[in-house]
Amino acid sequence: MPTRWHKGEHQISMTYLAALVGCSPKQVNGHLRSELRQGFRVYARRHPGPCPLATPITGRVAGQPWTEAIDFTEVPQLMRHLSVACFIVLAYLTGMRPAEVMGLESGCCPEPPSPGRHLIYGRVFKGVHDQDGNHYSAGQVRDVPWVAIAPVVSAIRVLERIAPDGLLFDSAVHSIPRGRISTGRVVGFEAMRNRVEDFITWASNLAVRLGRPHEAVPDDPFGALGVARFRRSLAWHIARRPGGLVALAIQYGHMRTAVSAGYAARGRGCIHELLDIETARATADTLTTLHDDLAAGTGISGPAARRAIHAAAQAPTFAGSIRTHRQARDILGNPALTVYDNPHSFLMCVYRRERALCHRLDASDAPSLDRCKPTCANIARTDRHASELVQYAQVLEKQAASEAVPGPLADRLAWRASHLRDLAGRHYDGRIDLQEPTS
Ligand code: SF4
Repeated sequence: MPTRWHKGEHQISMTYLAALVGCSPKQVNGHLRSELRQGFRVYARRHPGPCPLATPITGRVAGQPWTEAIDFTEVPQLMRHLSVACFIVLAYLTGMRPAEVMGLESGCCPEPPSPGRHLIYGRVFKGVHDQDGNHYSAGQVRDVPWVAIAPVVSAIRVLERIAPDGLLFDSAVHSIPRGRISTGRVVGFEAMRNRVEDFITWASNLAVRLGRPHEAVPDDPFGALGVARFRRSLAWHIARRPGGLVALAIQYGHMRTAVSAGYAARGRGCIHELLDIETARATADTLTTLHDDLAAGTGISGPAARRAIHAAAQAPTFAGSIRTHRQARDILGNPALTVYDNPHSFLMCVYRRERALCHRLDASDAPSLDRCKPTCANIARTDRHASELVQYAQVLEKQAASEAVPGPLADRLAWRASHLRDLAGRHYDGRIDLQEPTS
């Protein structure tokens, strides 16, 4: 018997039965009236069954459907999880503040007139005052629209189907039970914070259920995730993992360009400041590690090795001291300190603009680490990079030797492994070790 859990017991799901047979819930209720009804109630308690919907399951995890069927009774909660997932995509992949995400309205991201970038037209709230100097809580339309990458556009389209009129995060539309009329009030931060936690629990349980416990979201030592950490996390990844991948294989290096394009103004507190601070911290960490490694006898090679040694010598003066944007700008503006770790390419970039071979699309004049060229004169490598090159070459060689890998792909993997080994060999041939006496 299709049932739902209500008031501590399984009860017949009238609405589901009605939809299944094509009548109204009242009619079902009428049929189950009187003595028959009591019998059905008892039967339902003893034989509770699911209420599977005919909705096709198109979502896949590792090629498998993420569930066998969506149950009618779990739809409201799943819709809430879906809206939270959209919030996370928006907050993380645009760099917007939580209030700016919450203030988005249906129709905020129109289709571009010709193939090109989607733009999001939204409101800003921070620092908006009326003529008397009072904070203007309705905000104002942002002068420069945000740039939306593909996953962000998808999230907005999903929200527009949930809330076709008015605010995308209207509290009534995202309530359980769901209101049909928008109220003009958005879901509160506290409520969204709790919903993000619920979503994490649901996603982790799903990962375990699908036999992928390694994909469960780990506990956070800093407490609940909240809604305000996404911007800083994005800035951290852009600064430290430019070659790393985010949704749908989009590189963080590309995200720096996309996010920066949506932040033309360098107002106080804008994401450029966050990016600068995270980039300066990444530089300081790289120099501190290099300083310690060199002191411990690590070797270094490459056309920019001498400049890297010189920069590392200055690391102790600013290690752990970068808290403000001004401090960050001082470090980023010092050409002798512009050293960036590039783990994706197994090297360090000792950036000097006139020698750089990558594109320089960014107004902040930082290297494009995701477009690093192996022949650039700004490259330096330490023993750690060389060791990682060899380790990765071993992985590729193992893949190439697998019978499951077709011939042409195996050849490419083997060629790449040999190239990486060659780079490591060149490092060991030309490495400088500060501990060795020079003749
Ligand atoms: S190409 Fe040169 S400047 Fe650009 S990231 Fe690579 S090492 Fe740095």
